[in-house]
Amino acid sequence: MMLSGHIIASGVTAAWFGVATKSPTAAAACFLGGIFIDLDHAFDFFLMRKRVPRSYVELVDFCKEPTGKIYLFLHSYELMALLWATCFWGKLPLVFVGALFGMSVHLLLDQLTNPVHPVGYFISYRIKLGFPKSVFLYNQLAEETASTTRNL
Ligand SMILES: [Zn+2]
Repeated sequence: MMLSGHIIASGVTAAWFGVATKSPTAAAACFLGGIFIDLDHAFDFFLMRKRVPRSYVELVDFCKEPTGKIYLFLHSYELMALLWATCFWGKLPLVFVGALFGMSVHLLLDQLTNPVHPVGYFISYRIKLGFPKSVFLYNQLAEETASTTRNL
Protein backbone atom coordinates (compact mmCIF):
# COMPACT_ATOMS: atom_id res chain seq x y z
CA MET A 1 0.00 0.00 0.00
CA MET A 2 1.27 3.45 -0.86
CA LEU A 3 1.66 6.35 1.57
CA SER A 4 -1.66 7.96 0.60
CA GLY A 5 -3.48 4.71 1.33
CA HIS A 6 -1.76 4.38 4.68
CA ILE A 7 -2.66 7.96 5.60
CA ILE A 8 -6.33 7.31 4.85
CA ALA A 9 -6.36 3.91 6.56
CA SER A 10 -4.50 5.26 9.58
CA GLY A 11 -6.93 8.16 9.81
CA VAL A 12 -9.90 5.80 9.86
CA THR A 13 -8.17 3.44 12.31
CA ALA A 14 -7.15 6.30 14.60
CA ALA A 15 -10.66 7.77 14.54
CA TRP A 16 -12.11 4.42 15.57
CA PHE A 17 -9.40 3.95 18.21
CA GLY A 18 -10.02 7.44 19.58
CA VAL A 19 -13.76 6.83 19.88
CA ALA A 20 -13.23 3.40 21.44
CA THR A 21 -10.70 4.61 24.00
CA LYS A 22 -11.85 8.24 24.42
CA SER A 23 -8.17 9.21 24.24
CA PRO A 24 -7.15 11.78 21.61
CA THR A 25 -3.50 11.23 22.50
CA ALA A 26 -3.73 7.48 21.94
CA ALA A 27 -5.62 8.13 18.69
CA ALA A 28 -2.82 10.43 17.53
CA ALA A 29 -0.25 7.77 18.42
CA CYS A 30 -2.31 5.23 16.46
CA PHE A 31 -2.31 7.51 13.42
CA LEU A 32 1.43 8.16 13.63
CA GLY A 33 2.26 4.50 14.26
CA GLY A 34 0.28 3.51 11.18
CA ILE A 35 2.32 5.83 9.00
CA PHE A 36 5.78 5.99 10.49
CA ILE A 37 6.28 2.23 10.62
CA ASP A 38 7.34 2.74 7.00
CA LEU A 39 10.41 4.66 8.15
CA ASP A 40 12.22 1.34 8.01
CA HIS A 41 12.13 1.73 4.21
CA ALA A 42 14.26 4.86 4.62
CA PHE A 43 16.54 2.98 7.00
CA ASP A 44 16.99 0.24 4.36
CA PHE A 45 17.76 2.92 1.77
CA PHE A 46 20.40 4.33 4.12
CA LEU A 47 21.92 0.89 4.69
CA MET A 48 22.13 0.16 0.97
CA ARG A 49 23.07 3.57 -0.41
CA LYS A 50 24.95 5.02 2.59
CA ARG A 51 22.92 8.23 2.45
CA VAL A 52 19.37 9.43 3.04
CA PRO A 53 16.91 9.54 0.14
CA ARG A 54 16.69 12.95 -1.52
CA SER A 55 12.96 12.65 -2.15
CA TYR A 56 9.95 10.43 -1.54
CA VAL A 57 10.01 9.42 -5.22
CA GLU A 58 13.62 8.28 -4.90
CA LEU A 59 12.64 6.17 -1.89
CA VAL A 60 9.68 4.62 -3.72
CA ASP A 61 11.87 3.84 -6.74
CA PHE A 62 14.37 2.17 -4.42
CA CYS A 63 11.60 0.04 -2.91
CA LYS A 64 10.43 -1.06 -6.35
CA GLU A 65 13.87 -2.16 -7.55
CA PRO A 66 13.55 -5.89 -8.10
CA THR A 67 17.01 -6.91 -6.90
CA GLY A 68 19.05 -6.47 -3.78
CA LYS A 69 18.31 -6.86 -0.12
CA ILE A 70 15.60 -5.43 2.07
CA TYR A 71 15.40 -5.69 5.84
CA LEU A 72 12.30 -3.77 7.00
CA PHE A 73 12.91 -4.48 10.66
CA LEU A 74 9.63 -2.90 11.74
CA HIS A 75 7.58 -4.94 9.27
CA SER A 76 7.80 -8.08 11.34
CA TYR A 77 5.09 -10.26 12.86
CA GLU A 78 7.59 -11.43 15.47
CA LEU A 79 8.28 -7.84 16.53
CA MET A 80 4.54 -7.10 16.65
CA ALA A 81 3.95 -10.18 18.84
CA LEU A 82 6.77 -9.13 21.16
CA LEU A 83 5.47 -5.58 21.41
CA TRP A 84 1.88 -6.75 22.03
CA ALA A 85 3.11 -9.07 24.76
CA THR A 86 5.04 -6.15 26.27
CA CYS A 87 1.93 -3.98 26.13
CA PHE A 88 -0.23 -6.70 27.68
CA TRP A 89 2.05 -7.88 30.47
CA GLY A 90 3.91 -4.60 30.94
CA LYS A 91 0.67 -2.65 31.31
CA LEU A 92 2.06 0.12 29.13
CA PRO A 93 0.18 3.42 28.78
CA LEU A 94 -2.62 3.61 26.23
CA VAL A 95 -0.53 5.80 23.95
CA PHE A 96 1.80 2.81 23.31
CA VAL A 97 -1.17 0.56 22.65
CA GLY A 98 -2.44 3.11 20.17
CA ALA A 99 0.86 3.31 18.32
CA LEU A 100 1.10 -0.47 18.24
CA PHE A 101 -2.48 -0.82 17.04
CA GLY A 102 -1.76 1.58 14.17
CA MET A 103 1.41 -0.31 13.28
CA SER A 104 -0.41 -3.65 13.36
CA VAL A 105 -3.22 -2.45 11.09
CA HIS A 106 -0.57 -1.08 8.71
CA LEU A 107 1.19 -4.46 8.61
CA LEU A 108 -2.08 -6.30 8.00
CA LEU A 109 -2.99 -3.93 5.14
CA ASP A 110 0.49 -4.34 3.65
CA GLN A 111 0.03 -8.13 3.77
CA LEU A 112 -3.35 -7.89 2.05
CA THR A 113 -2.47 -5.32 -0.62
CA ASN A 114 1.22 -5.83 -1.49
CA PRO A 115 2.54 -8.67 -3.68
CA VAL A 116 4.29 -10.24 -0.68
CA HIS A 117 5.07 -13.87 -0.09
CA PRO A 118 2.45 -15.21 2.39
CA VAL A 119 5.08 -15.46 5.14
CA GLY A 120 7.16 -12.53 3.90
CA TYR A 121 6.42 -10.39 6.94
CA PHE A 122 7.94 -12.97 9.28
CA ILE A 123 11.46 -11.63 9.82
CA SER A 124 12.62 -15.17 10.64
CA TYR A 125 11.64 -16.17 7.09
CA ARG A 126 13.54 -13.23 5.63
CA ILE A 127 16.58 -14.03 7.79
CA LYS A 128 16.47 -17.63 6.56
CA LEU A 129 16.51 -16.45 2.93
CA GLY A 130 19.13 -13.72 3.51
CA PHE A 131 16.73 -10.75 3.16
CA PRO A 132 16.16 -10.91 -0.62
CA LYS A 133 14.01 -8.08 -1.92
CA SER A 134 12.17 -10.62 -4.05
CA VAL A 135 10.27 -11.77 -0.92
CA PHE A 136 8.38 -8.52 -1.27
CA LEU A 137 7.87 -9.02 -4.99
CA TYR A 138 6.16 -12.36 -4.69
CA ASN A 139 5.58 -13.00 -8.39
CA GLN A 140 9.27 -12.48 -9.09
CA LEU A 141 10.21 -14.91 -6.31
CA ALA A 142 7.84 -17.50 -7.78
CA GLU A 143 9.44 -17.04 -11.21
CA GLU A 144 12.95 -17.38 -9.76
CA THR A 145 11.96 -20.53 -7.90
CA ALA A 146 10.38 -22.00 -11.03
CA SER A 147 13.45 -21.09 -13.07
CA THR A 148 15.76 -22.67 -10.54
CA THR A 149 13.63 -25.79 -10.47
CA ARG A 150 13.63 -25.99 -14.29
CA ASN A 151 17.42 -25.66 -14.34
CA LEU A 152 17.97 -28.56 -11.93
ZN1 LIG B 1 4.50 -0.78 5.15
